[in-house]
This record gives sequence, C-alpha cells and structure tokens, in this order.
Amino acid sequence: MPGIIEARGIVKKYGDKYALRGVDLIIEEPITYALLGPNGAGKTTLLTIILGITSPTSGTVKIMGRDPRDPSIRARIGYVSQEYGLYELLTGWENALLYARLHGVPTGEARERILELAEKLGIREELKRRVSSYSGGMKEKLSLIIGFIHDPDILVLDEPTTGMDPGSRRTVWELIMEERRKGKTVLLSTHYMEEADALADRVGIIDSGKIIAEGSPAELKKKYGPRSVIEVGVEDGVKPEALRELESRVEKVLVSDGRLRVYVEDPDEYVPIVTNTLYKYGVRIRRLIVEKPTLEDVFLRLTGRRLEG
Ligand code: ADP
Ligand code: MG
Repeated sequence: MPGIIEARGIVKKYGDKYALRGVDLIIEEPITYALLGPNGAGKTTLLTIILGITSPTSGTVKIMGRDPRDPSIRARIGYVSQEYGLYELLTGWENALLYARLHGVPTGEARERILELAEKLGIREELKRRVSSYSGGMKEKLSLIIGFIHDPDILVLDEPTTGMDPGSRRTVWELIMEERRKGKTVLLSTHYMEEADALADRVGIIDSGKIIAEGSPAELKKKYGPRSVIEVGVEDGVKPEALRELESRVEKVLVSDGRLRVYVEDPDEYVPIVTNTLYKYGVRIRRLIVEKPTLEDVFLRLTGRRLEG
C-alpha cells in the first residue's frame, strides 16, 4: 500500500543557497501533520514541492503512489497558500463559486458547501461584499472555503491562521479538527507552537531547511523538553519528614520560602503522590501549579533560539 504522502530526500537550491537540505516527510495514514518552524525555515518550499508546484533540485515525491501533478491526484488535494489568489473586484460568493466551477463542483452543491463553511467560519454576511473590502483574516477564511470547496481528501494549508485574532484562530482550528475527524489528511505549516500542539498528531520541527525532530507533541516534549514542575505553596513550611519522603520518590525537589518545586517527568502521575504525601504529614496546601513543557521549550532546546517573537 503506498503512503498518502511520501517525500524523500528533498533538496532545493536557489542559486547557491539551500532552501531545503535533504528532507523526508512521510504520511502513511490520515492524520494531521504540522510542519513547525520559523520564517525562512523552508515550509512553503517543501509544501509547494509536495504539491508538484515547485520542482526539487533532487528528491522524489509521491502522493498515494502517484506523481503529485497527476490530474487524478490534484483533484483530491485542497491547497490553501499564504497568497490569496482572490479576485478583489468580485464578492466572496463569486470567488468561491468560480473556484467551485473550476473544480467541477455542481453549483447547487457548491452553494450548500460554501454556506456551511462560511457559517462555521462566521463570514456568511461578508460573502456578499467585494473582496477588496476584506481584512487579511477574512481573505484567509475565504481562501479556506475555496481550498475545501471540492471536499478533498488531502488538505495542504500553508500557515492557515497567520495574522488572525485568537477567536478566528480557534474557529479555524475547529474546522481543521472536524476535517481530521472525517478521515481527511491535513498537512499544515505554522510558526505558532500552540497551533501545532492543538492540531497535530505528528509534528515535524523544521529549521534552516532540515527537519530536526519529528514526533507527536507529547513525544517531542518528553524527549527534548525540560521536566515538568509541580509547584506547591504550603501554609506553615514543609516538614522535614514530608520532604524526606518526597525526595525518596522523585528525582529532584527544591524548597524555598514556603514553596516546594517538584521536578517530574509525568506530572499527571505525580500530582496525587505529592498531595497525598503532604496530607499524610499534615502539611496544608495553599496553591498548586503544574508547569508542563511546551513545543517552544523543545525548539529552544534543539536550536538554542526561540521560535516566536
Ligand atoms: P518559510 O515558508 O518557512 O518561511 P520558505 O520556504 O518561503 O520558508 O523559504 C525558505 C528559504 O528559501 C528562505 O531563505 C527564502 O528566502 C528562500 N526562497 C524561497 N523562495 C525563493 C525563491 N523563489 N527564490 C530564492 N530564494 C527563495
Ligand atoms: Mg512560508
């Protein structure tokens, strides 16, 4: 059985500069895969090579065992690029219907689908207006409607929420999650670590033209992230017996002015252990905070740089 997406050994040079330096990206079953990396990492280049829009300097791409430029494969992919490709003088409706026609979607069906998607994205009324009056976020949403119009099996989304306000971002996330639940394959790029964390089954961290780590968000955080910290504020200081018992059960405990910091790999397992131990020795808890590693921590550990900001 061929994989859904198989890109192997992808190298792309522009002049004497490498945009991609040997990338493998394999998706074998319908999942959401997020390419997470900063600006200039090579995300757009990799996506357009996978789509057959850009040709690689070397390497091969197969989608469902075929060349991505094969019309039967093209028809099964929905691509939403960072550039909009919208007709400014037409309304949102007219744009969406035009693209529906290009994809051979019957008009009645297209109307229903546009309405449904616009409803979910909260831009139903705006569709009546000319695109020239749209904000960047609205254009992005209209592009998503267009990318999804022919109900493709594979969605390729290049930074789908860049420049959106947090509310719109959530709405788009829900739409993507819904497609994933319907059995679609989603390949997206992002420089927002929360986006990769919220959506992706698998994340490829890309930096300077290379995928430097790959795995589920939980796997990556476990492998490259710092320990989680359970921080407990206590009422009357930590009793030495309680501290001794905790120290015997976890890797590291720090105490300073009525605060206990317990370093563990799996806080979900250790929160009850910590609270039970404190309870056993009559130590009363004032507050308890769990700090878990993020994908930002993972990126920092791998590159020495921050991903955002
Ligand atoms: P990202 O999408 O992660 O921001 P890109 O794939 O757009 O990154 O770019 C990767 C690198 O390739 C960047 O250094 C960029 O300047 C360069 N690049 C991209 N497209 C071209 C092009 N058409 N000509 C020359 N250099 C390019
Ligand atoms: Mg890009």
